[in-house]
Amino acid sequence: MPPPIRQPDRATRLLSAAERDGTHCVWCRRECTGPIRATTDHLVPKVKGGPSWLENEVVSCGRCNRERGHRSPADWFGECERRGWSPDLDAVVGTLRSLDRAIATRGGRRRARPYLAAQLRRLDRLRTDRNRLAS
Ligand SMILES: [Zn+2]
Repeated sequence: MPPPIRQPDRATRLLSAAERDGTHCVWCRRECTGPIRATTDHLVPKVKGGPSWLENEVVSCGRCNRERGHRSPADWFGECERRGWSPDLDAVVGTLRSLDRAIATRGGRRRARPYLAAQLRRLDRLRTDRNRLAS
C-alpha cells in the first residue's frame, strides 16, 4: 500500500473544487446558492475505488448527486443531456485527467484505474466529436 495521501477536509475540498470549476453544479449547471446546496460528488464512485481527493471531486447540487447514485460519469452525463441540461464537459474531463495524473504520481488505486481509463475514453470521444461539429 502506498502511504496515505494527506488531503484537506471535505469542506475545504468543496471550496477548492468551486474555485477550480465555479459554483455551479457540473451536471445541471444550476448555481449552488441558497436552497440549492453544493455537495461534493465523486466522479469515480467510492464503490469503484475512487478516492476522496480533490482530483476526484466536483461540485454537484444535492439533487444531481443523489439521483446519479453510483452511475458512471459518462452514463450520468448522457442522462443529464437527455433531460435537456448542459453538463459541464470541460470540468468533468479536466477533473478526470487530473485524477489520472494524481494516481500515476501517488500510486495505488488499482481498482479505479481501468474504470477511470474507460470513462476518459468515452468522454474524450464525445468532446472530440463535439469540437469537430463546432468547427
Ligand atoms: Zn445539479
